[in-house]
Amino acid sequence: MSVEERLQDVKARIGKAERLSKRSAGSVTLVAVSKTFDAQDIRPAIAAGQRVFGENRVQESQGKWPELKAETPGIELHLIGPLQSNKAVDAVALFDVIETVDREKIARALADEIRKQGRAPKLYVQVNTGLEPQKAGIEPKQTVAFVELCRRELGLSIEGLMCIPPAEENPGPHFALLAKLAKECGVEKLSMGMSGDFETAVEFGATSVRVGSAIFGAR
Ligand SMILES: *Cc1c(COP(=O)(O)O)cnc(C)c1O
Repeated sequence: MSVEERLQDVKARIGKAERLSKRSAGSVTLVAVSKTFDAQDIRPAIAAGQRVFGENRVQESQGKWPELKAETPGIELHLIGPLQSNKAVDAVALFDVIETVDREKIARALADEIRKQGRAPKLYVQVNTGLEPQKAGIEPKQTVAFVELCRRELGLSIEGLMCIPPAEENPGPHFALLAKLAKECGVEKLSMGMSGDFETAVEFGATSVRVGSAIFGAR
């Protein structure tokens, strides 16, 4: 199947999951995860109408997205990988949504850059729902206080939460936990679900799903 066909297939599956969980059509945004693929591989997805993309590395994104964004107006680029504070300057300049805010140091660096550049990407907080030591994200029980700190002390507008459940576990309880925390924090956006579990994520209230290999193929 071509990228265009796989994209159509994923969109149809999202539509079906929306109907099954009685959510309105189009309420879930597809973030096409293009990490490791180059501009040439990504262009067919843009030609097929896809406008929202996810990348996990700032430096890799700088090599392809300025050009792709210049070619097509209306691209929305999400950072979905860990962010170092020395990369905040580049992340704020390039990304439209940064989904991986997970500690005070990075939140402060982003607040500084947003002020300096006069450019304000939307921000989500990443939650380590599985408490995995090797995984980024704030602990679930610290999430509400962290979102409050971002808002009150740093003046950041936090719009959503994001999680990556442990690979070997049933993702449902992790998605349910993220949805519960979002309610407690008063944020509307829920970024959860990947190629293997995005339909489940839609069922649990995802407002965006991050799908890579089901669209672009194996990495
Ligand atoms: C790579 C990646 C994805 C996409 O994973 P697939 O299984 O290829 O769909 C989603 N979210 C994050 C944070 C990723 O790094």
